[in-house]
Amino acid sequence: MPDKIVVAGVSVDTRHWIGGERVASAEMFTDHSPIDGKPIGEISRGTPTEAAAAVAAAKAAFPGWAATSRAERARILHAVADGVEKRLEELAIVETTDNGALLRSHRRGVMPRVAHNFRFFADWLLTLGHEDFETRGHTNHVSWDPAGPCVLITPWNAPLMLATWKVAPALAAGNTVVLKPAEWSPLTASLLADIAAEAGLPAGVLNVVQGYGSEIGDALTAHPDVRRISFTGSVPTARRIAASAAANLTPLSLELGGKSPLLVFADADLDRAVDLAVEQYDNAGQVCLAATRFLVEESVAQEFTRRFVEKATALVQGDPRDEGTDIGPTIHPRQLEKIDGFVQRALAAGARAVIGGHRRDGRYYAPTLLTDVAQDAEIVQEEVFGPVLTLQTFATEDEAVRLADDTRFGLAATLVTGDPERAERVSARLVAGTVWVNCFFVRDLQAPFGGSRHSGVGREGGTWSFDFYCDLRNTVTAP
Ligand code: NAD
Repeated sequence: MPDKIVVAGVSVDTRHWIGGERVASAEMFTDHSPIDGKPIGEISRGTPTEAAAAVAAAKAAFPGWAATSRAERARILHAVADGVEKRLEELAIVETTDNGALLRSHRRGVMPRVAHNFRFFADWLLTLGHEDFETRGHTNHVSWDPAGPCVLITPWNAPLMLATWKVAPALAAGNTVVLKPAEWSPLTASLLADIAAEAGLPAGVLNVVQGYGSEIGDALTAHPDVRRISFTGSVPTARRIAASAAANLTPLSLELGGKSPLLVFADADLDRAVDLAVEQYDNAGQVCLAATRFLVEESVAQEFTRRFVEKATALVQGDPRDEGTDIGPTIHPRQLEKIDGFVQRALAAGARAVIGGHRRDGRYYAPTLLTDVAQDAEIVQEEVFGPVLTLQTFATEDEAVRLADDTRFGLAATLVTGDPERAERVSARLVAGTVWVNCFFVRDLQAPFGGSRHSGVGREGGTWSFDFYCDLRNTVTAP
């Protein structure tokens, strides 16, 4: 098998990156493009042996990187950002080929943000103070110490963006990293390894292990030398990881699924509400934060639906590489099956498809809006992770809050209202890591990000990231 494949003109190494060297596995797995379902190439299929080797490399590199000055760590992370910007076009096309998300989004939004992830955490590191205070004449000196090797496990829906949201603060904090990207989108993590090496990141500070989570997950998450695990993905996998991490009480950060509401009140600017509603089809609905449950005040529900349908049916679905495409494919036939299963069961239970409700060719699923759904229906309670939205109505603010909150998730909520007092009142009553008022997806890296209930454990972002990735130490010195 070749060690490198050419993807849309870009050379990508298919091997792991361990201790500053490319390492191959005896077995491979096939990576397919969601665009046409065709194989892209054969990728090293990691085993527990390679997983352990990556942790050992991260452990060996840790003392050197932890002792590297903050200024030098920040300089190298900025150099990584430079490398991302230099290869932005290559990263964008490889990611689109690999996970099917829109090329125009990768070019304009996602990859610039990947570079920003490195710049932001490099700069934030330099602002972290060392708190000093006095207790009966003794000084307390609080310091942010690196924690050790971190295992970072990421999903396929926004591979490099979500990976670097973890890699950047972990490295900034002085930790070393083993990154395990999702097996459905392994490519850009390999390019990141190249970029980091070119930027001067010492060998072993960043390691990338490819393969199936079910085969190498435990070897990473139950490893006694791992000091932090940060995971983004589904709830069932999070449960397995938490159980595995329990052996060593390894601290965890979990960013999981959602079933977020979009509340539209009668006093809302309806055009804005519809714009925000249509945005929920972004990335073919494969967005953890997506507001997939529309809750619309009865008096405006008909007009909202009319305008929504007009806008949603004008969306262009097709090849994500085309500039004019708004919605691409779903990642994998298994995901498509899952999405269609949810929809067909909902229809069988009495839901009505206002639009969509069926597959299209290949891996494409028609943007769908379902009404006549019961609050306790599977389609209202479970995360679909596809272009499938539901619409329910409410009569009063209390009912809106009750429906919004009747979920085991708590990742985000969006509300659209022209009344600032209502906005404040309702926001305060919702259980959600992020509440957007009259907007959606505005994210500042210094804000805490994460979910409540089954949407996650912990928060990352700004100082919260360093809180997680550092061992905080208080040194008390006598007068
Ligand atoms: P997944 O849980 O199936 O897989 C995520 C990662 O976990 C993959 O890299 C996979 O290989 C790995 N994995 C699988 N089994 C493992 C094990 N036993 N031990 C260790 N690692 C293992 O999730 P997915 O289908 O890739 O992603 C979709 C999910 O991610 C959705 O639920 C979505 O809401 C969630 N998500 C959350 C956020 C957030 O920030 N909250 C962002 C994006 C996606």
